[in-house]
Order: sequence, then C-alpha cells, then structure tokens
Amino acid sequence: MSEQKIALTIAGLDPSGGAGIIADIKTFSAFGCFATSAVTSITFQNTQGVYGAVHQTAEDVRKQIEPILHDYRVSAVKTGMLPTDEVISEVADIVKGGRLRNLVVDPVVRSTSGFDLIDDDALRSLIDSLFPLADLITPNIPEAERISGLKIENEEGVYQAAKIMRDLGARNVLIKGGHSFEKEKGATAAEPRYARDFLFIEDSSTIITADFIETTATHGTGCTLAAAITANLALENDIASSVRIAKEFVTEAIRNAPHIGKGHSPIGIK
Ligand code: PLP
Repeated sequence: MSEQKIALTIAGLDPSGGAGIIADIKTFSAFGCFATSAVTSITFQNTQGVYGAVHQTAEDVRKQIEPILHDYRVSAVKTGMLPTDEVISEVADIVKGGRLRNLVVDPVVRSTSGFDLIDDDALRSLIDSLFPLADLITPNIPEAERISGLKIENEEGVYQAAKIMRDLGARNVLIKGGHSFEKEKGATAAEPRYARDFLFIEDSSTIITADFIETTATHGTGCTLAAAITANLALENDIASSVRIAKEFVTEAIRNAPHIGKGHSPIGIK
C-alpha cells in the first residue's frame, strides 16, 4: 500500500460549506490525501454574501498547527484567508521552521460579494513574508491587480503583473481568470469560450485552458483550485501537472454544482 499523504489547509471557515477549509478538506479527500486544517477566521456567510468574521489570534493558529506537526509528516500545505498581519507572521515563522513543504499561497483578498477578507497591512505582510516562502501563489485577476497595483485589461497586463509579483519575491505564479478581460472586449463580443489561467514557473510561462462554463455556481472555485494543486503536490506531482489536474477538477466541479442557495451556489466537489 502506498504511503498516506497528509495535506494541511490554513484558512478561514465558511460555515455554509462552499469556500474556505470545508472546500479544502473535501478537495484533499477527493484526491486521496488525509486532510488536516487550522482555522484562521470564523466567517459568517452563505451563498449570498459574507456578513462578518471573527479572526483567530496568532497564538490560536499556532496552537492548532503545532500538535499536527509534532504528530504527522505533512506533505503539502495551502494557505487561504490569512486575515491579519500577526497571523501571517506566525504562519511564516512556522513555515521557516522547516516542517512544512510544498506551500501554496492563495492570496485571498476579498469575497466575490465584495467583503474584505484581509486588511491592507496584512496584504503587505503576505507579500513580504509569505510570497518568498511559497512554491506557488494563485491570485485571480482582481487579486493580481491589488498586489501589483496594475489594472489588468489584456494578456499583456497579466504578464506585467506576473513580473511584478516575481519581483516581489514569488517564485512561481498562477494568475487565474483570463476570461474576465475577454468579456470586456466589447458589447458585441461573444461570451468567452475558454477559461484561461496563466502559469509562470521560473522563467517559462504556459496558458492552461478549460471550457468556460457560464454559471453563477462559482462559490469556492479559488479555494478548491488551490487545494487541488496542494493535494497533487502532496502526491509528488510537479507544479505544472498539479495545476493542470486541478484545473480539470474544478471545471468538473463547476459542471457538477448542486445549485443550492439563493446566491452563488457552491461547486460540486466529488
Ligand atoms: N470565505 C472564505 C473563508 C474564503 O477563504 C474565501 C475565498 O477564498 C471566500 C469566502 C470567498 O469565496 P468566493 O469569492 O468564492 O465567494
């Protein structure tokens, strides 16, 4: 029997189950990894919006992670919502301790509904202290804009933003959601046919394409993609193949969305 791989998510709790650690745990399990988690913030939300959050202290977060690391060999780790400067510094310290490998940083900034999941100081600290430690960062277009300070309106903008993020210390960058600027080409332009993500590994870049599915059932897609990449890194796949497998997984999950709730339905993670 092959060794059971263990993955860890350090992220926010979405009690309605669509995003955050619940999506991550389901995704780790779907790939046969044993899921562990540390909660950074308890959010109050459903498919229609985020109504508030109680953030955990740095100490609370450390106290969740330490016993896991004392007991298990964790093969890959993902960070999602890291709400404050102090939580980010704590997580960076733990990573520097050397017991965590294969770090995927999903720079969660704001919910689809417009709720800020992290404050400005925290974003600065995420860039300064966690980007250099990450094996991959996975911003979507709005996150890439906030981090790089650029307005991304076309493919050229994606490449410029990636360069800025590399200059800020990120080794490998996945910028998600190329369909968002295709949509803006003009009122007469057809809906995008492909969902394109841009992967920058060291000095090379690749575009990862999947069918674009027109739907409102997208809650948790970012968390699920990053978690699927993390699971595949835990399974010892390389970054490029982990991203490809994860993209297919999310596309399938969007196709299988349960269409529950009155807002953006969660996706169907199986
Ligand atoms: N809530 C939590 C705890 C999250 O981690 C995230 C995103 O990563 C969200 C909400 C936002 O998800 P969405 O934009 O899909 O609504």
